[in-house]
Amino acid sequence: MMCYGHRSQIPDATQNPLIPSRMTQSLSDQKRPVLRSIEGLVQAGLLPPDASANMEALAKQYALAITPDLVDLMDADNPEDPIRKQFVPDLRELTVTADEIDDPIGDEAHEKTTGLIHRYDNKALLKLVGTCPVYCRFCFRREMVGPVKGDTLTAHEIEAALAYIEATPDLREIIITGGDPLILSMERLNKIASRLGQITHLEKIRWHSRFPVASPHSVTDAMAQALAASGKRTRLALHINHPREFSPAVRIAIATLQKHQIEILSQTVLLAGVNADLDTLQELKTCFTATGMTPYYLHHPDLAKGTGHFRLSLHDGLALIRAWYQQNPDQPMPRYVLDLPGGFGKIDLLSDAVTGLDDQTFDITDRHGHVHRYQSVASPLKST
Ligand code: SF4
Repeated sequence: MMCYGHRSQIPDATQNPLIPSRMTQSLSDQKRPVLRSIEGLVQAGLLPPDASANMEALAKQYALAITPDLVDLMDADNPEDPIRKQFVPDLRELTVTADEIDDPIGDEAHEKTTGLIHRYDNKALLKLVGTCPVYCRFCFRREMVGPVKGDTLTAHEIEAALAYIEATPDLREIIITGGDPLILSMERLNKIASRLGQITHLEKIRWHSRFPVASPHSVTDAMAQALAASGKRTRLALHINHPREFSPAVRIAIATLQKHQIEILSQTVLLAGVNADLDTLQELKTCFTATGMTPYYLHHPDLAKGTGHFRLSLHDGLALIRAWYQQNPDQPMPRYVLDLPGGFGKIDLLSDAVTGLDDQTFDITDRHGHVHRYQSVASPLKST
């Protein structure tokens, strides 16, 4: 079982009041900066010295940031390293296929006030911030996140979103996302959670974050208290894709959140070359169990621009996940889901909603009974 990091060390404390910046330093090495440039990646040995001008152009097009904790998990000598592949730019990102789009899950179609996405009757997304501690090369919101593209909601926009939530009694759950909301100050996290806590028809708050993986030493009791400040049922969907992301520090971060009654849900993207094989998925599931996480979502990759090299075909994804389920009968498993392009919502891919017409063509029925034709080309794993 590989439920641990590559070179990480177990920290001797889960909180340190002396940490001067949650975003740029880790407890294990407070001197090292977040890598934000091609030059920085070359110096760290994660790209060759002759990294081309195209690589610079790519770094301008899509935000780049890799925290020291993630660098620690990477094997700089192995270009196929599954952690490295998730964060180090790859020139294949410059190849955009005809079906790839700016807004693959269709947030825009359901935006009620700036940053407030109301797609389902009883839950809504609140996109508080447009930046992240790290940038994943397969990000489904890559056209909207980053220091240049991503906006943080203004106080006025937050008030407008809260007013919409208050005026919509059908809402039971608010999902706070971004970007990554946990990069905000604890004061702001506390304030937004507390305000949501005052809205009586809400029952649950769910945070979506990669922060505990990217900067685990910064997850403290104070942060957990801020996240749980609504007093309502609080869950955190942790974006985690590979068993090696469960470093000792990450496991401590998870335990810190759980200590404050925050349920940790798994949120994983199925990625060719990273985790799309039975052994890795099984190790991932073992890590979920070992850390007390609730298996929740396994996302089929979205049609984000320049991410085709991560996207296995739906045909191959279905075969893989069916085999994984068969290996784990009667076990809690994450739901294998696809966000239908165009904003038509999540589909459980192992349900009757999906009909394969041939290896590449699927008819998928959304929750309103409308049928969508979905074309899914051969997996990159097969074509190489
Ligand atoms: S943490 Fe989430 S929003 Fe940020 S780059 Fe990764 S996938 Fe995108």
